[in-house]
Amino acid sequence: MKRTYSILTVCVALAMCVGAVVAANSRSAEAASNKTRFARPNYEFAREGAVLDLTRYGSLADSRRLARFKADEQACHDALTAAGVTFTQLPEMHASNGCGYREAVLVKSSLTDWKAPDALPMTCDLAARMHMWERHIVMPAAEKYLGSPVVEIKVFGSFQCRRVAGYDRLSEHSFAKAADIAGFRLADGREISVLDDFRSKGARGDFLREVHDRACGLFDVTLGPDHNADHANHFHLDVGGERACR
Ligand SMILES: [Zn+2]
Repeated sequence: MKRTYSILTVCVALAMCVGAVVAANSRSAEAASNKTRFARPNYEFAREGAVLDLTRYGSLADSRRLARFKADEQACHDALTAAGVTFTQLPEMHASNGCGYREAVLVKSSLTDWKAPDALPMTCDLAARMHMWERHIVMPAAEKYLGSPVVEIKVFGSFQCRRVAGYDRLSEHSFAKAADIAGFRLADGREISVLDDFRSKGARGDFLREVHDRACGLFDVTLGPDHNADHANHFHLDVGGERACR
């Protein structure tokens, strides 16, 4: 009887142990599934140290990636290089009146020729966004509306020490954080001009209005002919941190 009793005790204890283990396992499985459910998506390119991929655009992670261009100069340089953009780094520059730049580059080659009367010093952040605009917005829009690739982006300028017209403050051009885009040249020789074609009803106008409107998703400030008469002949694209899309 005593033996039967002790066997019974062992069996009950064993059953309780097994039950406890099963319950614990099911709790940890539930915790793991909750963790999975609420985990942030593991964006490969948002990891510290990972090279930002400029050839990707159009996901929910874009704003986090774009923010890293501003915060991390080395990550920005690595991203340009990985995307095939060649450039030289410029030394920090301090001009009079508070103008100047740091972390600037001179782009030597991108997908198209960035044609300008003078050199185009740009912060790496601006250069990276210019490349993404060219790659993901300008090139596809040219194929879509005009049936020919863009070979040249005509740029009036980037760095210039000056005030915002009508305001008592420095323009983002004063810090190499802005570029003024005058137009485009296509592989078939056609020239597309912001001044002449922005309001046209045909394909040229459709192309220009699309590359202007979609620039708003990449740059902090995008201004065009609809903003004011000062912008009748160019798009102003800047990464100064304020927000406007006009
Ligand atoms: Zn401008």
